Amino acid sequence: MPVLVNIGQLACCRDEGSQRNIQRIDGAALVWEGEHIVWVGRERDLSPEHARLERWDAGGGLVVPGLVDCHTHLAFGGFRAEEFARRIAGESYLDIAKKGGGILSTVQATRQASKGELFDKALAVLREMATLGVTTIEAKSGYGLSLDDELKLLEVYDELNRAQPIEIVPTLLAAHVVPPEHRASRTAYVRLVVEEIIPEVARRSLAKFCDVFVEEGAFTLDEARTILEAAKRHGLGVKLHADQLSEGGGARLAAELSAASADHLEHASDDDLSALAEAGVVGVTLPLASLYTFGTPVDARRLLRQGVRVAVATDYNPGSAPSYQLPLAMLLACTLNRLTPAEALKGATLYAAQAIGKEGEIGSLEANKRADFAVLDAPNVEHLLYHFRVGPARLTVKSGHAIHRAGTA
Ligand SMILES: [Zn+2]
Repeated sequence: MPVLVNIGQLACCRDEGSQRNIQRIDGAALVWEGEHIVWVGRERDLSPEHARLERWDAGGGLVVPGLVDCHTHLAFGGFRAEEFARRIAGESYLDIAKKGGGILSTVQATRQASKGELFDKALAVLREMATLGVTTIEAKSGYGLSLDDELKLLEVYDELNRAQPIEIVPTLLAAHVVPPEHRASRTAYVRLVVEEIIPEVARRSLAKFCDVFVEEGAFTLDEARTILEAAKRHGLGVKLHADQLSEGGGARLAAELSAASADHLEHASDDDLSALAEAGVVGVTLPLASLYTFGTPVDARRLLRQGVRVAVATDYNPGSAPSYQLPLAMLLACTLNRLTPAEALKGATLYAAQAIGKEGEIGSLEANKRADFAVLDAPNVEHLLYHFRVGPARLTVKSGHAIHRAGTA
């Protein structure tokens, strides 16, 4: 049983108070046994028994719950750097998609990639995520868009969960876009998702959630309802990419279906936001996607006023958000979405855990939760996000085990 001492400040991030209430403790200590936290408090209040334990030194740093990236598209073939340049020169995301770029070009590259190639590429990303203090992520399929290729992506996540320490919560996103071979008959593709892909994924327990991209050029509200109701019948939780490029009613549907989260929300109306709050749906802000697409960022203060809990995630994907730097997304959630640093931290820990149904296990530092935490090189979260530097974690611990130490490979 070890004890972490010499903590400058510790942010508990328990499910108490508003989003800015992160329950700071100066001069803290943290005790864990095996995979779980036993005690959190002031170092001077350590019991004599705990004070004799094996001591880990936090070096006066900031200790936060292991960061949770609750929205990523982790595994995909290729990258799309050339589209980045075209978007800068003025072409829109939808224009590029209509010319065969966008998601469909990644679908082609992903179908061609072997499982081994997808595994190795994702593994390299996960190893870097550990250096950021990240201990859990959600990861979507959605670049296969056939039964076999969607299974291939979800099997890669399953194998990664056995092969490395960062936990991956898998989401089926077969309804990302309609694949080219089904262009002539959208209904046939929706039927394939409902009658074959969802049942097979559920039977093999390869996903915890089902997500739909509700948008012009992707899926309509009615198609989303059909797909997500089928997912619920098969025991999957639901999520939506909602109201990103236009107001499409996705947020309202998320409330109606008691989704775990509604993600993006740039164009959601106040009424839809208050419906989300009422239904207990977490709103997820993805500011890197706004940054890369020159989109208008969501006003997170408007979400907070309507009573929505706001999680922060990267949306890591090869098109609209090709970065998995969650601390950078937290900084942008402050400067673009107007969360305070404390609110961004609760959004990337406890509320992110709620967005993936894991809040009973992770997301805060308190007794009986998993010993998932990071020691960051800053006195407090305000300084961390204001004086932004890459790779802030001195130490990242997952389920009681160090998965990253600064200065060691
Ligand atoms: Zn996304």
